[in-house]
Amino acid sequence: MGKEKKNTNRRKFLQNSLKLGTVLAAGAGSVIAANGNGDEKGSGETVKVLTTDGKVIEVEKKKACKIDPCEPPKGSEVRHGIPGRKFVMVIDLARCKNARQCIAGCQKGHNLASDVEWLKVYLMKDNENGEPYWFPRQCFHCDNPPCVKVCPVGATFKRQDNLVLVDVDRCIGCKFCVVACPYSVRVFNWKKPPESSVPREDYSPETSVPAQMGTIGKCDFCADRAREGKLPYCASSCPMGAIYYGDRNEDAVSNGTETLRFKQLIKERAGYRFKEELGTKPNVYYLPPVDRMFDYESGLKDLPEEKRHIYDDIISGDTQNE
Ligand code: SF4
Repeated sequence: MGKEKKNTNRRKFLQNSLKLGTVLAAGAGSVIAANGNGDEKGSGETVKVLTTDGKVIEVEKKKACKIDPCEPPKGSEVRHGIPGRKFVMVIDLARCKNARQCIAGCQKGHNLASDVEWLKVYLMKDNENGEPYWFPRQCFHCDNPPCVKVCPVGATFKRQDNLVLVDVDRCIGCKFCVVACPYSVRVFNWKKPPESSVPREDYSPETSVPAQMGTIGKCDFCADRAREGKLPYCASSCPMGAIYYGDRNEDAVSNGTETLRFKQLIKERAGYRFKEELGTKPNVYYLPPVDRMFDYESGLKDLPEEKRHIYDDIISGDTQNE
């Protein structure tokens, strides 16, 4: 079967699955697990199912089960991920003007204190002749995450849908993951988090609410919202449309206003990943800040004095960012 035909079949399958409001069970492992040992003699009738790595495979009908992707997972299911999805983010640096609405949206959505930022906007300057540019940075949901490897209790884990999450019910606050992350995006909850309307027993690593003092917090790619087909809080809050989010398997990302082909976008706009040389394989891509919509000074205008000073070295050219 030609590549083009294969893709067309896959797309048709996805469209039909979505029309039904269900996605059939994930990989062969979970299909068989749903029906016991898988030794039963089959009827011979087969169905097509979508695997967690985005392939369409054929399995015996009696061994397939249906999963509602919108239904929040229970217990250990939360560690598997949403079947068939590979979430990805693209940040267009030409559009970012340090409006900081992404930070505010994230804080509100995750019930964070005003001094806790899972997403930070840095001012970058690549060389002495270059102009500074704004650079939002949060967890990259790496495919090869050093943070997961060092966790001694399995509190942080990588899912098949690309997400790296934290289960604070398991976290012992050792901070090994904070040290292992080369991007400094993990935050230790030193203080008691703000009161939450979500009861403790409804905590999920997908919502990260309510947080717990003495444990780790970080960007969760808004897994619960992804389940409902919504954009993460940062993307939907950005007034510049700088943050695109979507599914690599679907080859589509959206900022809420426009939906673009992921691969084409990265190819045509020279998309890159931060510190590619580390081999962590991030799932956040950046589009270089060429043909900028704003000069960087506009991002300093509304900043409180104490925040503005953070960037003094970059502006004076004394320091280059990492
Ligand atoms: Fe882990 Fe840091 Fe990669 Fe996020 S960015 S997955 S915290 S190593």
